Amino acid sequence: MQTSFTITQLMDPQIASSEKILRACVHCGFCTATCPTYVLLGDELDSPRGRIYLIKEMLEQDKPATAEVVKHIDRCLSCLACMTTCPSGVHYMHLVDYARERIEKTYKRPALDRALRAVLARVLVNPGLFRLAVFAGLIARPLAPVFAALGMRPVAAMLRLTPRRMPAPPAERSGKVYPPERKRRGRVALLSGCINPVLAPSTNEAAIRLLNRHGIEVVSATGEACCGSLAHHMGREDQALSQARNNIDAWTHELEGQGLDAILVTVSGCGTTIKDYGFLLRNDPAYAAKAARVSAHTRDVTEYLAMLGLREAEAPAPLTVAYHAACSLQHGQKVLRQPKDLLSKAGFVVKDVPEGHLCCGSAGTYNILQPVLAEQLRARKVANIELLKPDAIATGNIGCIMQLSAGTNIPVVHTVELLDWATGGPVPGPLVEVAERRASAR
Ligand code: SF4
Ligand code: SF4
Repeated sequence: MQTSFTITQLMDPQIASSEKILRACVHCGFCTATCPTYVLLGDELDSPRGRIYLIKEMLEQDKPATAEVVKHIDRCLSCLACMTTCPSGVHYMHLVDYARERIEKTYKRPALDRALRAVLARVLVNPGLFRLAVFAGLIARPLAPVFAALGMRPVAAMLRLTPRRMPAPPAERSGKVYPPERKRRGRVALLSGCINPVLAPSTNEAAIRLLNRHGIEVVSATGEACCGSLAHHMGREDQALSQARNNIDAWTHELEGQGLDAILVTVSGCGTTIKDYGFLLRNDPAYAAKAARVSAHTRDVTEYLAMLGLREAEAPAPLTVAYHAACSLQHGQKVLRQPKDLLSKAGFVVKDVPEGHLCCGSAGTYNILQPVLAEQLRARKVANIELLKPDAIATGNIGCIMQLSAGTNIPVVHTVELLDWATGGPVPGPLVEVAERRASAR
């Protein structure tokens, strides 16, 4: 694609990297076929190619974002299916990330939208505040249809996504070390993060047990908190980079202290962002090298477990598991086989979901900010999953767990919960009844 930036514009490193990405696009349109919003809406401007043109125009003209640009960029899930499909290697993720940052800096959103985004950016990343919000959501859940009728769809969407029961309080992990059960084979840091410990504390509990059982010492680095992913996807770059620097400091302290073989993440959305810290902070002389080192050590928990190999795994009940590949894991990190192979080796019957490349509609805060499209995508995903008649759905991202759980009665669990169970851990909470039924039918 030809571009027409001035030399002065190209002196800005963000414009220079965007220009390289734009020039790689050859307009072939292959990416449109796998883009969820194009599949749903059929509008070129809601396809990756259309959005690339809009971003090109916005950057070349060096003008504030228009309402038209904002509408179509906001509808993008950042699912990155287009990057998997693109034969020319267009790095759409870096391009749309920068477009979101430009929008945030140059476009004045309506007051309610601004307020909602400010609340999300403040509450979701603070586990204490978020737990209070979940409690309030639990009480107000029956009012979701009222908010929807009043036109307050994002509030209705938040209430519908609230779990039906209050999750157990998250454990205080900062600075804690979890020793291995047998001779130490390795040492890793495990991201606690922000949303995961509030909504699904069982995920990291299972990961820690599983790693300890396989001879791995697990540390929760002192001071580590939200990875910045949520703020980053809302274009709030200053907040995102400050959160990234905080975690880089926490993990660098461990890397330079007792050392780490890897930094493990059980939320694939966070993993994709942490693997990109090196790029995000490439122009920060104080952090560029440290950020690149942290990114190079970051692994999805299933990547690391696949390398380690599971011992003595046997599914305690003959369960059929539909594996839902989170976009951030399959498209963002290209981790495809490992979760499925681990589950199969552990004795589960693993089935691929038809149209597995399409997003479930979760996408960070997308299911709150774009509830109509998110609900359509969830309905399509759930229909595809239910065709398989599985006993359970396994996935590697808390956003997908919440999104799918709100649309089906099939239990949704994290992959590591099944692996922990198969290697001696407890039955994952949502599977207790299914496991009992299956075990008695044996
Ligand atoms: S990231 Fe996903 S929604 Fe956005 S343009 Fe690419 S395929 Fe479409
Ligand atoms: S597939 Fe790649 S090269 Fe083709 S239009 Fe899409 S982004 Fe451009």
